Amino acid sequence: MLKRLSIISLFLLPFFACSVAGFQGDINELEQQLSTLSSDEKITLLHQASDKMTVWPQADQGRYFFWLAFEYDQSNQMQKAIDYYNKAIDILGLLPPTEELVKSHSGRSYATYQLTNDPQQFCPDREQALSYAQQLDNADLLAQTLTQTAFCFDRMGNFSLGIQRLEKAMKLAQASQLTPNRQAMIFNATGLLYRRNGLHSRAYDNLHKAYDLWEEVDDRQDMFNMLHSLTGEAIELGQWSKTNQHVEQMFTMAEQSPQFADFEFFALYNAGRNALAQGDFQLAIEYLEQAIAKQALTQERYFIAASYITLGIAYVRAKQTGKAAQMAQHYLTHPEFSGQTEQHKLIANSIVALNNNDPQTAVISLYELYDLEKRLFSAKIDNQVVYSALDHAAQLAEFENLLLENKLSINQLRLNTEKDKQHISQLTTALFGLMSLVLVALTVFLFQSRRFFKHSAQTDYLTGIANRRFTMEAGEKALTRATKRQRALSLLIFDIDHFKRINDTYGHDVGDKVIKAAATRAKQVCNTQKYSTVGRIGGEEFLVILPNVDQQQARTLAQSLLHAIADQPVQLKQQAITFTVSIGVSTLTEASNSLPLLINQADSALYKAKHKGRNCVIVADTDTPL
Ligand code: GH3
Ligand code: MG
Ligand code: MG
Repeated sequence: MLKRLSIISLFLLPFFACSVAGFQGDINELEQQLSTLSSDEKITLLHQASDKMTVWPQADQGRYFFWLAFEYDQSNQMQKAIDYYNKAIDILGLLPPTEELVKSHSGRSYATYQLTNDPQQFCPDREQALSYAQQLDNADLLAQTLTQTAFCFDRMGNFSLGIQRLEKAMKLAQASQLTPNRQAMIFNATGLLYRRNGLHSRAYDNLHKAYDLWEEVDDRQDMFNMLHSLTGEAIELGQWSKTNQHVEQMFTMAEQSPQFADFEFFALYNAGRNALAQGDFQLAIEYLEQAIAKQALTQERYFIAASYITLGIAYVRAKQTGKAAQMAQHYLTHPEFSGQTEQHKLIANSIVALNNNDPQTAVISLYELYDLEKRLFSAKIDNQVVYSALDHAAQLAEFENLLLENKLSINQLRLNTEKDKQHISQLTTALFGLMSLVLVALTVFLFQSRRFFKHSAQTDYLTGIANRRFTMEAGEKALTRATKRQRALSLLIFDIDHFKRINDTYGHDVGDKVIKAAATRAKQVCNTQKYSTVGRIGGEEFLVILPNVDQQQARTLAQSLLHAIADQPVQLKQQAITFTVSIGVSTLTEASNSLPLLINQADSALYKAKHKGRNCVIVADTDTPL
């Protein structure tokens, strides 16, 4: 890498010398030339243009000083960078805000941070940069300044303000599709803010996101910075496989990128603090001694100081108090070390006191350290509690939402089930109703059918009066009852006279009507007698059962029937048909006390009536009339 750079420089040098010698251009030409040069050459060019720039407009002079500061910044000459940023700010601060003014404040802040690590010194510039950036239309610059100011809200009380600014920056980065580099810077800042507040797991995750983004764009310096921070967080979390892995990565990167001189120092420093954290004090001493030996490789005095105190602690733990005290003393008294932490100072004091045989001071220092840690810890715990609570609340809300959704769906299910139940019950009711109806209908039908069949079984299809079977049964019952109760019982058998003729003359249909008419008349006449049964027992032959009717009454009734038929012709559309019947009468006697006997007697009497000339009544001869 170095070799390649020097070859390029060799080629550029003649052109460069030539152009500088006659540099008469303006700031734009200067900026254009700067973009083609290496870092050292840029500074040389800028200095060679210093005479010309005094005649430039104020704004351009401001830009000139900004570039000079920036190049010193880039080449890690922080004090010089600060000097030129001061000049740029003096000029540009009097003019309307420009990007260079914002960058000058940011740059001065960064350089001050590098030298002091003291927020009180570097934060005012960041706020200033942000307020100017807010007046410009540059999303990236605004996201950058928002991110930088977030570091200034890293103390316990205002930590959430820092997080808010980072969230704003991240939204801006996403909305404006800023570079992976910008996004990585925001993640980095977020991680560092969490780290300062003891939320190491969150810190680690955010720093790792930053590392991944920088790896995407192969920004090796920032990747390396992230490895340094990741190691610190993994140490806090006691995740030794991660710490070991990150330390190893740092050594590899240091080897691969010798142009970044401080990589080696940081790899050694991290290896040292990693070994110390894991209790390998001797190894820690070895690494940290090497780191201190290479301290010239870095500008970051904070970490040089930190390696002294860490080495001091390692020596104490390895029971080498004298060496430990040397390191502690160096940490406390070195003129260039500023921004030492209170904790480190107290540790250093206790080590020095221990070595001075002043256990009381040593113990008091440790007690003070204990009190301080306790305060910081409780503040961190508060943050942790607040954030855990927030997380918890968010999760709870999410959970409750889910629960609510579930509840709603359960309710919906219940509702559906209820509806289904209702539906089923409605269906059941309907089904039962239907079944009941069907049953009722069936019952009615069966009942009706039974009645119908019974009726059909008992009824003569043509006349609607009792059929032969039913008439016989009725006869038997009447006979039994009459015999039992010693009651009278008579029978009539009648037959239509010359019916064949009627059929032959008027047709079968008319014949049927005549049969019906005969039945109707018989019913009319006989119904005057309670319990009587009129039945059709043959084609045009009828049997009448007359309970409680004696021979005399039977004869009278037979006479009435004879007249009722003979005197009332059947009225048809065309004509009236007169017909007659012959009637045989029999009555229950001791000798004729069965139905067949009685029927025979009545039949004989009928035969006699026919023989006698028809249309008459013959009463069967009885031995002993009742
Ligand atoms: P008599 O006076 O001697 O009784 O003479 P008759 O013509 O009535 O002689 P008979 O009793 O022997 O004839 C019965 C006839 O009745 C025979 C048959 O064709 C007719 N007949 C039987 N059943 C029916 C019926 O249901 N409808 C009609 N139209 N005719 C019937
Ligand atoms: Mg007949
Ligand atoms: Mg007849």
